[in-house]
Amino acid sequence: MTKPLVAILSGAGISTDSGIPDYRGPGGLWRKDPEAEKLVTYEYYMGDPEIRRRSWQMRRKSRTLKAEPNTAHRAVAELERAGVPVRVITQNVDGLHQLAGMPARKVLELHGSARSFVCTGCHARGPMEDALARVEAGEEDPPCLECGGILKSATVMFGERLDPVVLGEAVAITKACQVFLAVGSSLQVQPAAGLAGVAADHGARLVIVNAEATPYDELADEVVREPIGTALPKLLRRLGTEQP
Ligand SMILES: [Zn+2]
Repeated sequence: MTKPLVAILSGAGISTDSGIPDYRGPGGLWRKDPEAEKLVTYEYYMGDPEIRRRSWQMRRKSRTLKAEPNTAHRAVAELERAGVPVRVITQNVDGLHQLAGMPARKVLELHGSARSFVCTGCHARGPMEDALARVEAGEEDPPCLECGGILKSATVMFGERLDPVVLGEAVAITKACQVFLAVGSSLQVQPAAGLAGVAADHGARLVIVNAEATPYDELADEVVREPIGTALPKLLRRLGTEQP
């Protein structure tokens, strides 16, 4: 007997208990502060060395890399370990699902990862901590060691396209799953938000766990307003023991 495929779309709300604020959402810190938004906007970043120097300082001080997974991240990893087919589609760049024990191949990072750097010239990648060590050592805007190109965080900046391969896989999983759980996402940022609609169209059971109302609540089979840290482990335990 095969267990139903569970797709989990996670947004900023799943990581707030880990001390990471919502940077990117509609009410997020970046959208409220035009100067801060420039630091994560591709055009400004590529065109202005001063913006890059400030971006590296922001990354150096960022709490994201120091954060630890919380109960909700661990509950997702436990469901996978219990033998339920689980795929995570995340809007977060913090890598906390993987740190909690989810196999990296089962996590799709729609907005990339803050734990890696990437070269805008030759696309070489490496651990963010290596690039930050160079900043600590005095390089204000460390160039690529392979080609001399401009390095950036391996996250999708404003003005950049999402990786079409990652997005394609996310859509395929959304269409194939029997349960689609949207957790801690305002479901207002496209194309991630639209996945909830795709899931419902394809007959998946749509469950939304979020503190505030979302545009997809009416489509959902179940809406949970409880704090994620208590709601998600309960919900996932139920999924883990349900027979299809
Ligand atoms: Zn390069």
